[in-house]
Amino acid sequence: MSIVMDIWQVMINYNMAKGWTTMTIRDSTLEALSEYHKSKNIEKKVSPWIDEILSSYIPKAEFLTKKFASQLEMIAIKGNYALLEDTKVEDPVKVIKEKDSLYCKLDKTDNCIHTQYVAAMPELAQIFKNESP
Ligand SMILES: [Zn+2]
Repeated sequence: MSIVMDIWQVMINYNMAKGWTTMTIRDSTLEALSEYHKSKNIEKKVSPWIDEILSSYIPKAEFLTKKFASQLEMIAIKGNYALLEDTKVEDPVKVIKEKDSLYCKLDKTDNCIHTQYVAAMPELAQIFKNESP
């Protein structure tokens, strides 16, 4: 690393609050988060709010997996659907995006434990971004 980069890094670290660090995210992600933050009149500033979202990711996913639906596990996201393993049934369960909702192929409904599980998981955003495979 060059001396210029060393000095630059020291300057960045000097300006950061203790206990905080920088990381890289996509411009489009930050813009979307900032617009949402502004539209909801959230009291916290954007950075602490994003930190709160990130720090809640693991406890939320663990709660869903261990307490809410311990028999379920996300196997894969493929295009606009999720494949779940459900220890109570033999075959993987397919939950597909239909219009603006989720539909369970096993239970033939938009409101079962499988659709609720997928709706609560962070992978939901990936399903809604994707089109049919
Ligand atoms: Zn289901």
